Amino acid sequence: MFSISPVQAMNFEGRSIYIKRDDLLHADFGGNKARKFYHFLHHDYSHVTQIVASGSAQANSLYSLSVLAKQQGWKFDYYVSHISEFLLQHPQGNYAAAIQNGANIIDVRHLTDAKNLEGMHLDDAMQHIVSSDPSYADKKQLLFIPEGGRCEYAETGIAQLASEIIQWAQDQQKKQLKIFLPSGTGTTAAYLNKQIIQQQAKLLLMDVIAIEVLTCSTVGGDEYLRQQFSQLVDEVCFPNIINDGHKYHFGKLSRRCFDMWNTVCQSGIEFELLYDPVGFLVLQHYLNSNTVSATDILYIHQGGVLGNKTMLPRYQRKFLHTV
Ligand SMILES: *Cc1c(COP(=O)(O)O)cnc(C)c1O
Repeated sequence: MFSISPVQAMNFEGRSIYIKRDDLLHADFGGNKARKFYHFLHHDYSHVTQIVASGSAQANSLYSLSVLAKQQGWKFDYYVSHISEFLLQHPQGNYAAAIQNGANIIDVRHLTDAKNLEGMHLDDAMQHIVSSDPSYADKKQLLFIPEGGRCEYAETGIAQLASEIIQWAQDQQKKQLKIFLPSGTGTTAAYLNKQIIQQQAKLLLMDVIAIEVLTCSTVGGDEYLRQQFSQLVDEVCFPNIINDGHKYHFGKLSRRCFDMWNTVCQSGIEFELLYDPVGFLVLQHYLNSNTVSATDILYIHQGGVLGNKTMLPRYQRKFLHTV
C-alpha cells in the first residue's frame, strides 16, 4: 500500500540539503509510525481482532494505530496515564482523529482498579489490566504494541526505508551520504543503520556508498539513547549520536525550538514541533562545525504534523500570547 516517499531539496540556512518526505508516504498512514507498523499490513494477522496499546493521549502512534485498526477492522484499546482537561474539552490533533477512527482511549486513573495501578509504568499497568480483565480472555486475538512502537516488528518497514534511500543515493551517484533523523526511542535510527549496513553488504564493492546514519537525542540525553540502541542492535550497528551541547527535554517548549521550527517551515514544508526543531538545531551545529557538503545530507521528515494541532497553540500561548 506504500509508494516510495519522495526526496526533495530544501534550503536550510543558505545551503541546499535533501529531505526524505516520509510525511508523504500515504494520505492517512504516513511518517515514522507508519514505517514501524507496516509489518502488520504485510504479514498474516487474520487471527487478530484487537490492538491493545499504551502511551500519551497526543502521541503520533495513537493516531497511526487507529488508522491501522480501522483498516483491518480491529478494535483498538489505548491506555493513557492521564488526559489533560484542556484536551478533553477541546479534542484535537492525534487524539481527536484517533477517536474518530474508533479508538477507545482509556484513562487508567478512572478504572475500578486504579489504586493498584498507581505508580506502575504504563506498559506494566496495561499488562496487568489485560491479565485480569475477562473481556481480554482470548489472548491469541490481541496484538500488543509497546509505547512508541518500540518493537522488533518495526524493522520490516524500516528495511524498506533503507532500501529506498540506498536506491536514491545510487540514482544520484552519491559517493557519500549522511542520513540524519532525530530520535525518540532510537528504534528507527538503530534499525535504519543496521539495515543500511546489511543491505550494502550484499552489493558489489564498487556500488557501496559511504553512508553514515546520524541522529540526536530528544529525550534523556546521549547516554540514554545509546542504552536504547543496545537493547535493539549490536554495537557495530549503533548510529552516530551528535549534539549541540544543549540538553533537550521532550515536549518542553523553548524559544530556540520555536524559532527553528518557524525558520524551516518557511521552506514551504511543514515540519512537526516535537522532534524536528531539535533535529534541525543539532544539524545546524553539525554543518557549522564540520566540513561536509550540505548536498550530502538527507534529513528524514518523519511525519507527525497532525500533532501540531495541539503543539502549535501551546507555543502560541507561550510565546506569542495569542489565543
Ligand atoms: C515516533 C517519532 C520519532 C521517533 O522515532 P524513534 O524510533 O522512537 O526514535 C521521530 N519523529 C516523529 C515524527 C515520530 O512520530
